[in-house]
Amino acid sequence: MHLGYNSGSPVTSPQLNPNPKLNPNLCPLCGMPNQCAMEIAKATGQAQEPCWCVNAYFTPELLAKLPEEAKGQACICAGCAAKAAQPAQAPRSNDSMI
Ligand SMILES: [Zn+2]
Repeated sequence: MHLGYNSGSPVTSPQLNPNPKLNPNLCPLCGMPNQCAMEIAKATGQAQEPCWCVNAYFTPELLAKLPEEAKGQACICAGCAAKAAQPAQAPRSNDSMI
């Protein structure tokens, strides 16, 4: 006498996302859309122009601010990259020296 084999396969564990809260489209520093061309290309399936980040300079200090789980996952946005690349104090008016 044969036992009917159990057709119910063991529960396949869904692909675990290590960081469910991490959105690769959002800047991990300010939470704004990072406009990463590579992510846009992935989302739309259309090739984009080279991402702005190709020519951007990310300072080591800025990269150090990234949460460990965001490294290699989410792009920093152009705003944060530009802010970090500039000197901390950038006065707009240079003729108001007293
Ligand atoms: Zn940002």
